[in-house]
Amino acid sequence: MSVPEPVRLFFALWPEAELQQALYEAGNKLYQRCGGRRTRRENIHLTLAFLGAVDADQMQCITDVADQIALTAFDILFNRLGWWRRNQVAWAAADETPRPLIDLVKQLQLGLSAEGFKFDERRFQAHVTLLRKANCPQVLIDSPPIVWQARDFVLVRSTLQEDGPHYAIVQRWPLQPTAD
Ligand code: ATP
Ligand code: MG
Repeated sequence: MSVPEPVRLFFALWPEAELQQALYEAGNKLYQRCGGRRTRRENIHLTLAFLGAVDADQMQCITDVADQIALTAFDILFNRLGWWRRNQVAWAAADETPRPLIDLVKQLQLGLSAEGFKFDERRFQAHVTLLRKANCPQVLIDSPPIVWQARDFVLVRSTLQEDGPHYAIVQRWPLQPTAD
């Protein structure tokens, strides 16, 4: 009998191609100042909850947790580009994290914790990683705002290959339309 390999999974917001492009261009701007390694355009995303290696028999309880979520869609205004010295990551982020985004992360973490998944205690900081191993001359960089209209969230499978991680969307869950 063959034993299925564990898969590396995470929940994320996944931008449309146009938004990925806009964030990639912001990443290029950072790259000119900070160097490092750019996130590939098609890999650009916002991580909600990282699960790590998961056995095939855990899939059902993971998708059950996501099935329970009933939150409204929201917009995020990415109006900051910056750099964390501690992990050499340069990123795009929002001054204000929308309430439904905080709730989405909280509900995923609560539901998944009940299934035995562990999350670190650090406060969730919504960000899109644009550079790794970057060394920026300043911590914040001006940039025109980018609006992300989040209408769904996804479960993603990551495979680490020679040329870096490859991501594939496993399943998508819609957020509820807003009244207006
Ligand atoms: P690489 O590890 O090759 O640099 P990556 O970090 O983009 O690539 P993964 O390690 O598969 O790819 O991670 C997928 C997503 O989950 C990324 O957004 C990553 O930042 C995030 N992530 C990875 N490990 C953790 C962790 N321990 N805690 C929180 N988020 C994580
Ligand atoms: Mg990683």
